[in-house]
Amino acid sequence: MRVNKILLVSMCAVLFPSIVQAASLPAVKVEKISDRVYALLGPIGLPDKHNQGYMVNSTLIIGDKGLIVVDTGFTDKIGHHLARTIKTISTKPVTHIINTHHHGDHTLGNIAFPGAEVISSAKCREALDTTALEWIGIVENLTGMKFPNTHPVLANKTYPADSRNDITLQGVKLQLWLPHHSHTAGDLMVYLPNEKVLLSGDIVVHDETPQFRDANVKSWLGTLAAIQQADFNKIIPGHGPLMNKTQFTQYHAMLDKFYQGVEAGYKQGLTDSEVRKSLDLSEWQKLHNYDEFMGGNINRAYLEVEQANF
Ligand SMILES: [Zn+2]
Repeated sequence: MRVNKILLVSMCAVLFPSIVQAASLPAVKVEKISDRVYALLGPIGLPDKHNQGYMVNSTLIIGDKGLIVVDTGFTDKIGHHLARTIKTISTKPVTHIINTHHHGDHTLGNIAFPGAEVISSAKCREALDTTALEWIGIVENLTGMKFPNTHPVLANKTYPADSRNDITLQGVKLQLWLPHHSHTAGDLMVYLPNEKVLLSGDIVVHDETPQFRDANVKSWLGTLAAIQQADFNKIIPGHGPLMNKTQFTQYHAMLDKFYQGVEAGYKQGLTDSEVRKSLDLSEWQKLHNYDEFMGGNINRAYLEVEQANF
C-alpha cells in the first residue's frame, strides 16, 4: 500500500509537475539605466496568491568587485528569485544590501544574500527588529502561503536620521540621503550622482497609492520639495514604473493638494468623513490600491492636522 502511494505520487510528479512544484514567481522586469545600474521592477499590487508577495522594486548597482542590491523583497523566496535574476546580469558576488525602510516588502529578502553587509537607517534597523514577525504574518495572510525560512536580517551598518552621506561602495559614488520622517521614520534614499538617478523607496511610488500607515505627511511634503530641487533625471520608485521629472512634479502636486485640502477642511470645522467628501480625489482614484489605502490615508492626515492645530 505504502509502495503504491509513493508510486502514485512520483507518477503525478512526472505527469503533472505543476501540482507538485510551487508556481513560479512573476518575472523580474530588468531595466538598464547605465552600465552600472539596473532597475529590477516587480509587479504592481498588494501581495496575493498569484504574486506570492512579490510586488516591490529593487535596484542592482554593479561595483568594481561586488554588487550592491537596494531592497530585497518580502520573503526568502523573493530574495532568491532576485538573486537568480542578478546572476544573469553579473557574476560578481553581492557584497552590500541597502534597505530604504523597514517595511517587510523591502527588507525580508535580505536573508537570500548571506555575507553581504546590510546598510539602513538606524531607525529602520530598530523598527524591523520589532515588527518583522508582524510583516511575515501580513505576507503569509495575504498570500495564503507559509514562509518558514523568512527571517529578518538587520543592518550591520546604520546612518542617523536627517543626514546626507556621500560614500563610495565598491568604487561607486553614492549619496545616502536620510530625510526627516516621511513614508516612515527611518527612510533612506540613494542618490547616484553619475547617473542622476534617485532610488526613493516608498517616498515616491508610481501608478500606486502612496501609503501613510507609518508616515508623517507634512514632513513627507518637505522631503518632496527637497527632491524637487535635486539634480535628477529619473527616479526608481519603491513601487511602479520608472518616473521622470515631469511625472514627479505631478506626484508632488497631488500630495500637496491633498494635504492642503485636509487642512482647509479641518479649519472649516469639518469632521474627517466630511473632509473626505470635500476632497477632489480624481487623480488618486486612478491609482492602484486606492480602495485599500485611501480611507486610512485620509484619517491619518486628518489626525496629523488636528494634532498640529491643537
Ligand atoms: Zn513598499
